[in-house]
Amino acid sequence: MYDAIVVGARCAGSPVAMLLARRGYRVLLVDKVTQPTDTVSTHYLQQYGLAALQRWGLLDALVATGVPAITRMTVSYLDNRIDGFADPLDGVAATYAPRRTVLDPILLDAAKAAGVEVREGYTVRELVTEDGRVVGIRGGRGAEAPTEERARIVIGADGSQSFVAKAVGAEIYKTIPAASFVYYSYWTGLDTHFHSRIGVDQQVGVWPTNGGRTLMAIMKPLDRWAEFRTDVEANFLQVVKDVVPDIAEQVADSGERQERFTGIRYPDNYYRRSHGPGWALLGDAGYHKDPITGQGISDALVHAELLADHVEQGLAGQRPLDEAVAEYAAVRDERTGSAFEFAATIGELRLPAHLAAIFQVLAVNETYAKDFYNVIAGAMRGEDFFHPDNVAKMLGSV
Ligand SMILES: Cc1cc2nc3c(=O)[nH]c(=O)nc-3n(C[C@H](O)[C@H](O)[C@H](O)COP(=O)(O)OP(=O)(O)OC[C@H]3O[C@@H](n4cnc5c(N)ncnc54)[C@H](O)[C@@H]3O)c2cc1C
Repeated sequence: MYDAIVVGARCAGSPVAMLLARRGYRVLLVDKVTQPTDTVSTHYLQQYGLAALQRWGLLDALVATGVPAITRMTVSYLDNRIDGFADPLDGVAATYAPRRTVLDPILLDAAKAAGVEVREGYTVRELVTEDGRVVGIRGGRGAEAPTEERARIVIGADGSQSFVAKAVGAEIYKTIPAASFVYYSYWTGLDTHFHSRIGVDQQVGVWPTNGGRTLMAIMKPLDRWAEFRTDVEANFLQVVKDVVPDIAEQVADSGERQERFTGIRYPDNYYRRSHGPGWALLGDAGYHKDPITGQGISDALVHAELLADHVEQGLAGQRPLDEAVAEYAAVRDERTGSAFEFAATIGELRLPAHLAAIFQVLAVNETYAKDFYNVIAGAMRGEDFFHPDNVAKMLGSV
């Protein structure tokens, strides 16, 4: 009998398992893959996610992998270019975009070091329920006979296609259809800082990562998917040329693509019910938004901490476990509402008039530009930045 079983051992699952084990609880963490294994993600971390790694004593290990520090950013919408960077957050003054084959093993190793029992290559195939309550899992490795494991809570940190969510029938209660698709790959021979630019119905993101490689990603509206795929390389390079011509020149002069292209149609933006008798959902399993704002991993990290705090209240007998976990989900929703709307809106790649007008202000006003970067970094609440009074003040400043 475990205190907690966590399904999925990446940026949501490993930290929640680690935090509970560090507090003395007996935790089983399972994942159907074995680390290091890549996953579809462009892996940019925000300061609030990095601050969580720092609180847990894991930031130094990440920096030691040689992943380049990012201290300067350019975000542009059409010809409105916002240069800047957020204020330091809890002492974190740079951001990083570590490969998932680098980040996820650091998180998993930290869980192991905390005493979590880890089973890799282990697929959960069934939830065990009693009297309407989830009390465990059934699953195993490959063709091995399935084993049954029991716990006071089962946490589904198993991604957007979450098995746990399906098994408990967790319904989606808020959704905004996905608007775009992405393709990305990695180049050597490029010398760029972080740049994300939305052009006419298309976007390019460029940032450095491990191994001297630069990630380049493009986004386009979903209805261009079939046409784009007829010639991925040529169409990719055309988008780069249209949107960031200076980088396209570098690609032509000195860039060498080192990996194949990865492409995906984004899942819809959603909130899924993330608590119930004996279970909780964490990370993309419970909440997903367009990756254009690069917040999914950082959210998974900070929500792992939020969930661990609440699960502990239940396991320690301070209050009923299910009530504590319900509060975790409510707090998560309250803290992410503005970022969810913002990501889904700019993911359309064509900004509504009020947002386009705000971008015009940000391009010429350093103070508001700093606020904007602080919102993305997690140092300022989106609700405050986008509050009608603040928007009126910003728009009145030009
Ligand atoms: C194209 C793209 C680009 C992105 N770029 C960024 C970015 O730049 N920055 C950012 O912060 N976020 C980004 N994201 C979002 C980010 O990748 C996710 O928010 C993040 O991976 C969620 O982490 P997770 O741990 O919840 O789920 P996942 O990373 O999906 O991990 C789930 C794990 O559960 C395991 N699992 C699933 N089912 C089972 C089962 N039945 N039994 C056992 N194990 C199981 C899987 O093997 C997997 O390892 C991007 C996403 C996409 C698609």
